[in-house]
Amino acid sequence: MTVGGGAPVVVQSMTNTDTADAVATATQVAELVDAGSEIVRITVNNRAAAAKVPEIVTRLREDHGVEVPLVGDFHYNGHTLLTEFPETAEALSKYRINPGNVGRGARHDRNFATMIDVAIEYDRPVRIGVNAGSLDPELMDRLMDENAERAEPKSAEEVLREAMVRSALDSAEAAEAIGLAHDKIVLSCKASRLPDMVAVYRTLAERSDYPLHLGLTEAGMGAKGIASTAAALSVLLEGGIGDTIRASLTPEPGGARDTEVRVCLEILQALELRAFRPRVTACPGCGRTTSTLFQELAQRIEGELDERMAVWRTERPEAAQLQVAVMGCIVNGPGESRAADIGISLPGTGESPRAPVYVDGEKVATLEGDTLADDFMRMVEEYVDKRFPVAASTSA
Ligand code: SF4
Repeated sequence: MTVGGGAPVVVQSMTNTDTADAVATATQVAELVDAGSEIVRITVNNRAAAAKVPEIVTRLREDHGVEVPLVGDFHYNGHTLLTEFPETAEALSKYRINPGNVGRGARHDRNFATMIDVAIEYDRPVRIGVNAGSLDPELMDRLMDENAERAEPKSAEEVLREAMVRSALDSAEAAEAIGLAHDKIVLSCKASRLPDMVAVYRTLAERSDYPLHLGLTEAGMGAKGIASTAAALSVLLEGGIGDTIRASLTPEPGGARDTEVRVCLEILQALELRAFRPRVTACPGCGRTTSTLFQELAQRIEGELDERMAVWRTERPEAAQLQVAVMGCIVNGPGESRAADIGISLPGTGESPRAPVYVDGEKVATLEGDTLADDFMRMVEEYVDKRFPVAASTSA
């Protein structure tokens, strides 16, 4: 898995199972991977959790047929766990270290160095993950004191942002001084307020060339969490900042954990940075679409394309670039349908019950009647077969 250096932006996620429960954790990691996560982070918060990491990797491979880079999330005791459990240090693909909670004073430096030494020994990359909620208090105090002596002191917000950036960059410098290679370091500086998060990442991108993991931490639940995450990540990604992303969404009680993965995929797809599945352009409908026909068709086509994409992903991954339009009436229907690879313009209320279909900008058929949805899906399949033929090596 290549991160940074112009490689495609990678989607990460994090489990919320007890890592000491290897069965549950391996199952959830597999679900996240199935949803599209390319790296998964697990908390390694105590000895019971650390002891189970090798079993999680084995279960993933043997029970789920999944190979995915697992990142160990360490706070407070990473130096102890990584040295007491060498098989865990080896089983993990990356270590996340929060410089704000590896100890104070000389202990901080010693504990940090211990973790970096383990990373060097096992040739593992490290993410130096600063979080506004767990900033190194000594650094914060020092910067506050320095600020107080300025002729024109900065605002507390500016000092906080500077402290986050300095914590990440100073820690990266310290890791390199210990011997960790420059290209083994990833940085993140997560904040829960969008303006802080965006400002901090912009500064990091200006001051360093380390790959950056983006996240709006504690984004929250439901529509608020999704909208905040999409807004924050999009501003940065559109500016060329960010190499891996995570949506820190709080699931509804009992809700699916993999929503955070789906949100990341949709963000990257919407920004046209990556294509994971065909893009369906569907109008929102209005008073011109009093029947639910077009909503049902749009939903059905989205669902069927998702199902087909699961197969196409291995036999013809380029099919993810397909653009389909499902439009509700004559106002924008023909125009959007022509602009897509294949599109259908359904009849609005009062229009003739016929639906023109456009392929590569040309009207090629008019569908009507009860079989309209089946007929259109068949045309989509035929289009995909012709435009994205199965490679000879995978068609046998
Ligand atoms: S395309 Fe037609 S049905 Fe869809 S939103 Fe526009 S006017 Fe309404």
